[in-house]
Amino acid sequence: MPKLSWNSRLSSSAGRFCPGSRRLIMPRGAHIEVATYLRDLSDGEMHIRDTVLHEMIHYFLWHQKKPYGHTAEFKGILKKVGAKRYNTVPKVRPVKHWYECPGCLKRIPARRRIRNSACAGCCEMHNCGKFTDRFRLRLVDANSQPATPPPPKKPTANPMAPLVEQRLPPHEVIRRLEELREILKSRARP
Ligand SMILES: [Zn+2]
Ligand SMILES: [Zn+2]
Repeated sequence: MPKLSWNSRLSSSAGRFCPGSRRLIMPRGAHIEVATYLRDLSDGEMHIRDTVLHEMIHYFLWHQKKPYGHTAEFKGILKKVGAKRYNTVPKVRPVKHWYECPGCLKRIPARRRIRNSACAGCCEMHNCGKFTDRFRLRLVDANSQPATPPPPKKPTANPMAPLVEQRLPPHEVIRRLEELREILKSRARP
């Protein structure tokens, strides 16, 4: 049986078959590597199964000393064992970096580092669609919790509300407010 291992550097393929060496001196066993990122996919289990099956067929043919590439025989076996895909590279690639807009705090995934980019939405809304440093995307720690925007300010309570709730006639409301103003004025005096 081939050695099975994860490979965290595989990103352009789901798996890899490394044939062994049949030399008499220092023979080397065959090796199957499966891309680590498959584990992070929601349907990862299916991809891992398909990938291992695919690479096992390479191994099976190699073991039988047959051409072990994607030959007609390879495809025939693939069909027979029920691995549907010819090449099981999922479309979803791992996200390496996360960027955050300092304006709307939206998080943007990126596979490679980006420089001098600003949030399109914020530039559109607050800067006539032109680039501004204010919304330059900043690199954030992928594991950090997204910052929560501050809660919207509650409207300040209407100071008149208690008086209005008492169903006082308007002139009475005004009289009490004037009274209040006099009290505040006298307090303000030294
Ligand atoms: Zn293959
Ligand atoms: Zn933004």
